[in-house]
Amino acid sequence: MNLIIGSHVSFTKDKQLLGCIEETLSYGANTFMFYTGAPQNTNRIAIDPNKTILALELMKENNIDYNNVIVHAPYIINLANNSDDEKWNFAINFLKQEIDRCETLGITKLVLHPGSHVGLGEETGIQNIIDALNIVLDRPSNVIICIETMAGKGSECGKSINEIKQIINGINNKDRIGVCLDTCHLNDAGYDIESFDEYLDMFDKEIGIDKIKCVHINDSKNVRGMSKDRHENFGLGTLGFDTLINVIYNERLKDVPKILETPYVSIDDNSKEKMFPPYKFEIEMIRNKKFNDNLISDIREYYKNKNHKI
Ligand code: FE
Ligand code: FE
Ligand code: ZN
Repeated sequence: MNLIIGSHVSFTKDKQLLGCIEETLSYGANTFMFYTGAPQNTNRIAIDPNKTILALELMKENNIDYNNVIVHAPYIINLANNSDDEKWNFAINFLKQEIDRCETLGITKLVLHPGSHVGLGEETGIQNIIDALNIVLDRPSNVIICIETMAGKGSECGKSINEIKQIINGINNKDRIGVCLDTCHLNDAGYDIESFDEYLDMFDKEIGIDKIKCVHINDSKNVRGMSKDRHENFGLGTLGFDTLINVIYNERLKDVPKILETPYVSIDDNSKEKMFPPYKFEIEMIRNKKFNDNLISDIREYYKNKNHKI
């Protein structure tokens, strides 16, 4: 199986898409996901077309298909709550611009957290999401918005197949809407990922498996159904190595990009200061289908001793 695997990488002011690809290659990955700026704010820099052209060339050289590359919308964008009209409209306009940025970069998949209703109730929240997305998707574009399955923390919408289905049912332009599964979120929302094929059967029956455009691969710090959303490194959480490997190598999702969003690793157990990306080592385990008992210490050694740039 030709694995499509990558991780979250940084999009910086200086290097932009080019930096994303260099980072991706350093992890031995063949796809990637990034935020076009800080995930927690909406400040965005202008995209430099020259850097984009160089980046697209580098992707081609390395067989990275831009149809497998993902942009993640900032998580403060909340389409579900419209109690502040100005904020809601800002979110809608930001999302329109984010689609434009994806177009400029040649990227076709934009992952979005559906949003939190914050007291308005699930039904109203979902209706707000539908209304907002119909406005956003009202102009022609190649970009597909992929709604992420959420853990159900606080008042998050989109924690069940049924809620995702309701959102999709309300969208006028259904070709422009997809779904991004997140293994940690599914577990925390109460789904049994050990029986992943049963989940896919349910999903297929209610929504259609062809709607799945991306899978976020994360282990979870919490047991099933805790509605927490705390990611853990690959194989070190409650899902475990074999369960995640089975998701990644599931034949029914073989053409869907898998993206790691596992946490950075601290330099030692007590420090939270210097943090290293785990992705090179996690991808190695995934490709070998073999668990590395020394995952954390290998990551620390690699970045500490060899002065590898992150
Ligand atoms: Fe996300
Ligand atoms: Fe995710
Ligand atoms: Zn999460």
